[in-house]
Amino acid sequence: MPADSSPLSWLADALADLDARGLRRALRERGLPQTSEVEIDGRRLVNFSANDYLGLANHPLLAEAARHAIAHHGWGAGASPLVTGRSSLHAELERRLAEFEGEEAALLFPSGFAANAGVIPALADAGDAIFSDAKNHASLIDGCRLSRADTRVYPHNDVQELARLLAESSDRRRRLIVTDTLFSMDGDFAPLARIAELAVEHDAVLLVDEAHATGVWGATGRGCVEHFADQRPSIRDAAIVKIGTLSKALGCAGGFVAGSQQLIDYLANRARSYVFSTAHPAANCAAALAALGLVRDEPARRRRVRSLADSLRGRLRARGWDCGASVSQIVPVVLGDVDRTMQAAARLLEAGLLVPAIRPPTVPPGESLLRISLSADHREQQLERLIDVLGESS
Ligand code: PMP
Repeated sequence: MPADSSPLSWLADALADLDARGLRRALRERGLPQTSEVEIDGRRLVNFSANDYLGLANHPLLAEAARHAIAHHGWGAGASPLVTGRSSLHAELERRLAEFEGEEAALLFPSGFAANAGVIPALADAGDAIFSDAKNHASLIDGCRLSRADTRVYPHNDVQELARLLAESSDRRRRLIVTDTLFSMDGDFAPLARIAELAVEHDAVLLVDEAHATGVWGATGRGCVEHFADQRPSIRDAAIVKIGTLSKALGCAGGFVAGSQQLIDYLANRARSYVFSTAHPAANCAAALAALGLVRDEPARRRRVRSLADSLRGRLRARGWDCGASVSQIVPVVLGDVDRTMQAAARLLEAGLLVPAIRPPTVPPGESLLRISLSADHREQQLERLIDVLGESS
């Protein structure tokens, strides 16, 4: 069939449209494992693009744990967990994650995306109401869409508007508030204590996505719920469903949910991305167990990445750059315009620094930014180089 008469011929126009708006992304291949440096197209670059916040993704203890597990458990899981995919390592990791989160139980998902896309529709259906922050991650948005519940999006971190929407929803069967705890592009926190108070007041469940906070925030690295609960006990009174990932600070792959045993038993039966998807390799669980050990034993890693971020942000702001509301290891430089952001990223790349340009649809139009993501593995000279090349904001 000639290409232009295919029912897929519209793809060429769709790609041309992305090109014209500067929004087409190319897939790249990297060489060598990435640490604070990465090799792309044969060039060694300082890596400010990964979510490997604690520098664990290539830690020898994780690799060794995985190798050992492969020798005993083989590689592929072969089936979904409810069939025969769940090994003793999956079960052990779920127990350790529950303990780590201070919850009764935990359940592993193939990815953080799958956890959100499975858990939300299992907890809310037609007749229910969901309240979702405007800057929530795509997987939370898709989970809300799949649920068929009436989803109300409130402006980013606007608790007054959230309170108003909740007050309007008393006729709904159930209410579910959904928020990232640490927003992945802006690097700011959700006002969790206030949101938890509203959840209690309006008899709503609070689902929090700790993807970027797990391992980095909280006295023992449990995330923002721990970080804020230490300061504001109101969080302990709310019915909280915690989602986390193994794929960022823990340096592995996969997602998880933690909560009461009843919640986990229910989700294991009803979350479709759990029931109908193959479990990940047992070796990944072994590596994640090793990562949890390092989170417990090496708190200096989270202290370091947080202090590097504070120092970088301070120096960038002093040079006139807009780091938005960032307070975390994710430091945006907000440039607004797509072309300006692409040019800045290209200039940094030219100088050997990999800093991704984030543009729509990842951020709203007019909010394009450079996303600097820090790791405990970064060295002071690498930060200095970044600051030098960025120079002063004009
Ligand atoms: N939630 C948030 C807030 C995220 O940023 C991401 C990944 N970027 C996910 C969930 C998905 O996690 P995973 O990469 O494990 O699928």
